[in-house]
Amino acid sequence: MPTEDYRTISFWHETLPDPIEPRAPLERDEQVDVAIVGAGYTGLWTAYYLKTLQPDLRVAVLEAQVAGYGASGRNGGWCEGFLAGLDGQLADTRERPQALALQRAMFDTVDEVGRVAAREGIECHYKKGGYLRLATSGPQLADLEESMRFYRELGFGDDVWRWLEREEIARRARVPGCRGALYSPHCAAIHPARLARGLAAAVERKGVALYERSPVLRIEARRAVTPGGALRADVVVRAVEGYTPRLPGEKRTLIPLHSQMIATEPLSEALWKEIGLEERETFADSRRTVTYGQRTVDGRIAFGGRGLYYYGSAIRDRFPADDPLFRRVHESLLSIFPVLADVRITHRWGGPLAVPRNWRPGVGVDRGRGFAWAGGYVGEGVGATNLAARTLADLILERDTECARLPWAGTSWPRWEPEPLRWLGVKGVRTVGESADAFEFRHDRTPRVRAAIFDFFVRK
Ligand SMILES: Cc1cc2nc3c(=O)[nH]c(=O)nc-3n(C[C@H](O)[C@H](O)[C@H](O)COP(=O)(O)OP(=O)(O)OC[C@H]3O[C@@H](n4cnc5c(N)ncnc54)[C@H](O)[C@@H]3O)c2cc1C
Repeated sequence: MPTEDYRTISFWHETLPDPIEPRAPLERDEQVDVAIVGAGYTGLWTAYYLKTLQPDLRVAVLEAQVAGYGASGRNGGWCEGFLAGLDGQLADTRERPQALALQRAMFDTVDEVGRVAAREGIECHYKKGGYLRLATSGPQLADLEESMRFYRELGFGDDVWRWLEREEIARRARVPGCRGALYSPHCAAIHPARLARGLAAAVERKGVALYERSPVLRIEARRAVTPGGALRADVVVRAVEGYTPRLPGEKRTLIPLHSQMIATEPLSEALWKEIGLEERETFADSRRTVTYGQRTVDGRIAFGGRGLYYYGSAIRDRFPADDPLFRRVHESLLSIFPVLADVRITHRWGGPLAVPRNWRPGVGVDRGRGFAWAGGYVGEGVGATNLAARTLADLILERDTECARLPWAGTSWPRWEPEPLRWLGVKGVRTVGESADAFEFRHDRTPRVRAAIFDFFVRK
């Protein structure tokens, strides 16, 4: 890909302050202590904490394209203190104590990202304005009520989730069809590509070797092989998330789901007065097919929705502007803020995220094979990658810390089914979810069977 094309990946890449000049690729064999495959947040945070904990460690990162090329440069910029799959663990009384420790560590992680960004001078537009969870139908309101009961049972108070009074909803986000809203302070809005590119520069300053345009063809025992040379290492870390199925032998480890986003033109002051979001609160309604939005620093709305799984775990990182999913994402945005009907959509993009078969992110080290991994964030990795990296760094350095004892340390994932079962299953569950959402918007009540099927497969 020619250099200038990297800026056309997404709105975020286009609005980076500096040009995206690829760094030099790996062109010989080298020996390091830790080799990291993938320069998204997982790989870069892991390099960052390894070098912070042990400055003399030789750490190198191999990236197929450029740092921040994948989901880390393209996402919705929600740096949130919640973790996919954790509610299921919190609901299970045997798993609860450990899961609570993980939940608390996730809350702190939102601040940790802000702290490191400030310390390293990474201007990623970090603003901890919180998370508005909106109900735009009766069933969505019931969903919020159930969530609230659940969090209260766990002992969490208003500092984790609280109901907003009607006036506060109206002050924070003027959503005409809003039936109720929860607010959590545990989320910051960021400019994702600025964080990824800033982290890449930060790890280089710490002495990490970052090779770009160096696709790893295969990971062998203590060795990562690229077309230009190989890195030998005590530990090779796989940190390629949605791209994992492209590596030999990893077709059924994680599946790539896609998410698609749009950005509006900058909105007028008058429109912002009508909409609100003055604290740059991130916002979503509670439909099953997932929405997420943020107010950008330059006065736009960046908004996304969960996209598709493609047969055979095919990965797409470019989408034509007329892809029908963008229209659906746009419709979802208008259903929340109808006042945007005449506003132009200037950017459309998407990318892959990764889903493990058990819906739970995980981190692990296999010392015998000299191999480590972290990922499976199910589209909620902006904050989680930071905690995963700290966990991984402690495991690699054999440090006995709270992080290293978190319940996601040392887990591995059950494998996904072979095709065509994988495609049929994922497509079936998505279709059920979409049809349940549509039914709820039409009839204002929950279709029980469809809702139960969806909840059974998509562990919240
Ligand atoms: C459109 C979209 C919106 C999202 N919104 C949010 C959000 O608002 N909040 C949230 O929490 N999460 C969100 N996510 C998910 C979040 O972005 C990811 O969980 C997170 O960025 C994962 O980081 P990562 O480093 O593990 O993976 P990635 O950022 O995907 O990085 C993997 C890197 O590995 C490289 N690579 C791939 N194959 C190879 C190879 N063979 N050799 C070398 N390098 C390779 C890729 O080029 C890429 O740079 C979103 C994801 C998408 C796609």
